[in-house]
Amino acid sequence: MGAHRLHEVLAKIDSACAAGRLPIVVFDLDSTLFTTAPRNLKILQAYAHAHGVRWPGLAEVVARLSCDDMGWNIHEDLRRFGVSDQALLDEVKAFWFERFFTDEWLLVDEPVPGAPEFALACHARGALLYYLTGRHVGGMEIGTVRSLRQCGFPFWRGRCVLHLKPSFEMGDAAFKDDAVHDIRSYKGEIVATFENEPGNANMFSRAFPEALHFLLDTIHSPGAPAPDAKLVHIDDFRHG
Ligand SMILES: [Mg+2]
Repeated sequence: MGAHRLHEVLAKIDSACAAGRLPIVVFDLDSTLFTTAPRNLKILQAYAHAHGVRWPGLAEVVARLSCDDMGWNIHEDLRRFGVSDQALLDEVKAFWFERFFTDEWLLVDEPVPGAPEFALACHARGALLYYLTGRHVGGMEIGTVRSLRQCGFPFWRGRCVLHLKPSFEMGDAAFKDDAVHDIRSYKGEIVATFENEPGNANMFSRAFPEALHFLLDTIHSPGAPAPDAKLVHIDDFRHG
């Protein structure tokens, strides 16, 4: 599908460097560079382990689930698999909420196939990597760095920016809008952006019309807007 366009990103990095410009590649993290399915599944398993005895049948449902069954949030996943007790679903949701946005649980995320290799290739060719995430400062920053390194993404070596949301409460869209100003401040050439949220990808596409904008067809929030036609769809970062 869009895999050959990943090669185009590398070529654009080369051209920018040859012209004496700083190439910049923007990467979202959750459901773009990382799959959050293991985080969701392990939180659900931890809930079932700690509280399953109170809910007959829950352990059996959870035992059947794999990472491929994980969607946007685990209470909806459970509902899809036949769990309808609202008190249980509410409790699972609260249990998930207390854990999903924490340093500790970020460490179970896995990279989207090919993502570390692609990020390394961009960096090695001279790009500045701009990791831009709705994860917040004050609970997720340490786990984010550890997770990036654990999965082999370039980090402690210069030309790597990590921009997190200043607070949990700030809206993701407003944050990414602000980030556009920061990205521009480098006065570089925005070569490509990678996102799983159509709304953010559309925003980047309008902010940086000369760049390539990729949309990861992983998962996205419910009620997301339609993606702009010019976005390049990819499933992962494998590019041969
Ligand atoms: Mg994301």
